[in-house]
Amino acid sequence: MRVGVGTDVHPLADGVPCWVAGLLWEGVPGCAGHSDGDVAAHALCDAVLSAAGLGDVGAVFGTGRPEWAGASGVRLLGEVRRLVADDGWVLGNAAVQVIGNRPKIGSRREEAQRVLSGALGGPVAVSGTTSDGLGLTGRGEGLAAVATALLLPA
Ligand code: MG
Repeated sequence: MRVGVGTDVHPLADGVPCWVAGLLWEGVPGCAGHSDGDVAAHALCDAVLSAAGLGDVGAVFGTGRPEWAGASGVRLLGEVRRLVADDGWVLGNAAVQVIGNRPKIGSRREEAQRVLSGALGGPVAVSGTTSDGLGLTGRGEGLAAVATALLLPA
Protein backbone atom coordinates (compact mmCIF):
# COMPACT_ATOMS: atom_id res chain seq x y z
CA MET A 1 0.00 0.00 0.00
CA ARG A 2 1.10 3.56 -0.63
CA VAL A 3 -0.24 6.82 0.82
CA GLY A 4 0.02 10.24 -0.75
CA VAL A 5 -0.81 13.83 0.09
CA GLY A 6 -1.82 16.82 -2.02
CA THR A 7 -2.75 20.45 -1.50
CA ASP A 8 -3.96 23.17 -3.81
CA VAL A 9 -4.79 26.88 -3.56
CA HIS A 10 -6.32 29.17 -6.17
CA PRO A 11 -7.35 32.84 -6.08
CA LEU A 12 -11.05 33.65 -6.38
CA ALA A 13 -11.95 35.89 -9.31
CA ASP A 14 -15.12 37.71 -10.35
CA GLY A 15 -16.99 36.31 -13.34
CA VAL A 16 -15.31 32.89 -13.20
CA PRO A 17 -17.54 29.79 -12.92
CA CYS A 18 -17.07 28.05 -9.59
CA TRP A 19 -15.97 24.44 -10.11
CA VAL A 20 -15.22 22.68 -6.82
CA ALA A 21 -15.15 18.93 -6.21
CA GLY A 22 -16.28 18.20 -9.75
CA LEU A 23 -19.47 20.28 -9.39
CA LEU A 24 -20.52 23.66 -10.77
CA TRP A 25 -21.69 25.94 -7.93
CA GLU A 26 -24.09 28.57 -9.24
CA GLY A 27 -23.97 32.06 -7.71
CA VAL A 28 -20.60 31.52 -6.03
CA PRO A 29 -17.36 33.17 -7.20
CA GLY A 30 -15.00 30.72 -8.88
CA CYS A 31 -11.25 30.20 -8.98
CA ALA A 32 -8.89 31.32 -11.70
CA GLY A 33 -6.29 28.81 -12.80
CA HIS A 34 -4.45 27.01 -15.61
CA SER A 35 -7.47 24.67 -15.81
CA ASP A 36 -10.92 25.01 -14.24
CA GLY A 37 -9.49 26.00 -10.83
CA ASP A 38 -11.07 23.03 -9.02
CA VAL A 39 -8.88 22.96 -5.89
CA ALA A 40 -10.45 19.72 -4.61
CA ALA A 41 -9.85 17.81 -7.84
CA HIS A 42 -6.31 19.17 -8.13
CA ALA A 43 -5.41 18.28 -4.53
CA LEU A 44 -6.73 14.77 -5.17
CA CYS A 45 -4.65 14.50 -8.36
CA ASP A 46 -1.54 15.39 -6.36
CA ALA A 47 -2.41 12.95 -3.57
CA VAL A 48 -2.87 10.04 -5.98
CA LEU A 49 0.21 10.91 -8.06
CA SER A 50 2.36 11.23 -4.94
CA ALA A 51 1.14 7.89 -3.58
CA ALA A 52 2.28 6.25 -6.81
CA GLY A 53 5.53 8.23 -6.88
CA LEU A 54 4.57 9.72 -10.24
CA GLY A 55 5.24 13.37 -9.46
CA ASP A 56 2.64 16.12 -9.26
CA VAL A 57 0.00 18.03 -11.19
CA GLY A 58 2.53 20.63 -12.32
CA ALA A 59 4.77 17.99 -13.86
CA VAL A 60 1.98 15.95 -15.45
CA PHE A 61 -0.42 18.69 -16.62
CA GLY A 62 1.60 21.92 -16.27
CA THR A 63 2.25 24.74 -18.68
CA GLY A 64 4.58 22.46 -20.65
CA ARG A 65 1.52 20.38 -21.66
CA PRO A 66 -0.76 22.94 -23.38
CA GLU A 67 -3.17 20.16 -24.46
CA TRP A 68 -4.36 20.06 -20.82
CA ALA A 69 -4.99 23.82 -20.54
CA GLY A 70 -8.59 24.44 -19.49
CA ALA A 71 -9.23 20.75 -18.75
CA SER A 72 -11.82 20.00 -16.09
CA GLY A 73 -10.71 18.66 -12.74
CA VAL A 74 -12.68 15.48 -13.38
CA ARG A 75 -10.85 14.96 -16.69
CA LEU A 76 -7.51 15.38 -14.89
CA LEU A 77 -8.57 12.83 -12.29
CA GLY A 78 -9.44 10.37 -15.06
CA GLU A 79 -5.99 10.77 -16.56
CA VAL A 80 -4.35 10.35 -13.13
CA ARG A 81 -6.36 7.16 -12.63
CA ARG A 82 -5.08 5.88 -16.00
CA LEU A 83 -1.46 6.78 -15.19
CA VAL A 84 -1.44 5.00 -11.82
CA ALA A 85 -3.28 2.00 -13.31
CA ASP A 86 -0.54 1.74 -15.96
CA ASP A 87 1.91 1.64 -13.05
CA GLY A 88 0.01 -1.19 -11.31
CA TRP A 89 -2.13 0.67 -8.75
CA VAL A 90 -5.81 1.09 -7.91
CA LEU A 91 -7.36 3.55 -5.48
CA GLY A 92 -8.05 2.12 -2.02
CA ASN A 93 -9.69 5.33 -0.85
CA ALA A 94 -9.11 9.07 -0.81
CA ALA A 95 -10.29 12.05 1.22
CA VAL A 96 -10.34 15.72 0.34
CA GLN A 97 -11.17 18.75 2.51
CA VAL A 98 -12.00 22.12 0.97
CA ILE A 99 -11.07 25.19 3.05
CA GLY A 100 -13.04 28.37 2.40
CA ASN A 101 -16.16 30.40 3.13
CA ARG A 102 -18.12 29.35 0.03
CA PRO A 103 -19.30 27.05 -1.46
CA LYS A 104 -20.79 25.11 1.45
CA ILE A 105 -19.54 21.64 0.61
CA GLY A 106 -21.88 19.83 2.98
CA SER A 107 -24.93 20.95 1.00
CA ARG A 108 -23.86 18.77 -1.97
CA ARG A 109 -21.49 16.30 -0.31
CA GLU A 110 -23.11 13.10 -1.68
CA GLU A 111 -23.14 14.45 -5.23
CA ALA A 112 -19.49 15.54 -5.02
CA GLN A 113 -18.44 12.18 -3.59
CA ARG A 114 -20.27 10.37 -6.40
CA VAL A 115 -18.57 12.43 -9.12
CA LEU A 116 -15.04 12.22 -7.65
CA SER A 117 -15.36 8.52 -6.77
CA GLY A 118 -16.49 7.80 -10.31
CA ALA A 119 -13.52 9.69 -11.76
CA LEU A 120 -10.94 7.92 -9.60
CA GLY A 121 -12.57 4.48 -9.53
CA GLY A 122 -12.69 4.17 -5.73
CA PRO A 123 -14.28 5.76 -2.67
CA VAL A 124 -13.57 9.49 -2.19
CA ALA A 125 -14.79 11.32 0.95
CA VAL A 126 -15.42 15.06 0.64
CA SER A 127 -15.55 17.53 3.52
CA GLY A 128 -15.36 21.26 4.01
CA THR A 129 -14.19 23.71 6.65
CA THR A 130 -13.54 27.41 7.09
CA SER A 131 -10.45 29.11 8.50
CA ASP A 132 -12.64 31.17 10.86
CA GLY A 133 -12.04 34.42 9.02
CA LEU A 134 -8.25 34.05 9.02
CA GLY A 135 -5.85 34.06 6.10
CA LEU A 136 -6.57 34.11 2.37
CA THR A 137 -9.46 31.66 2.64
CA GLY A 138 -11.00 33.51 5.57
CA ARG A 139 -10.80 36.86 3.76
CA GLY A 140 -12.48 35.30 0.72
CA GLU A 141 -9.42 35.82 -1.49
CA GLY A 142 -9.09 32.17 -2.43
CA LEU A 143 -9.96 28.54 -1.85
CA ALA A 144 -7.67 25.79 -0.61
CA ALA A 145 -7.92 22.02 -0.43
CA VAL A 146 -5.93 19.22 1.15
CA ALA A 147 -6.21 15.56 0.15
CA THR A 148 -4.87 12.15 1.02
CA ALA A 149 -5.01 8.95 -1.01
CA LEU A 150 -4.26 5.30 -0.40
CA LEU A 151 -3.28 3.15 -3.37
CA LEU A 152 -3.39 -0.65 -3.48
CA PRO A 153 -1.55 -2.95 -5.88
CA ALA A 154 -3.88 -3.72 -8.78
MG1 MG B 1 -4.78 23.84 -9.07
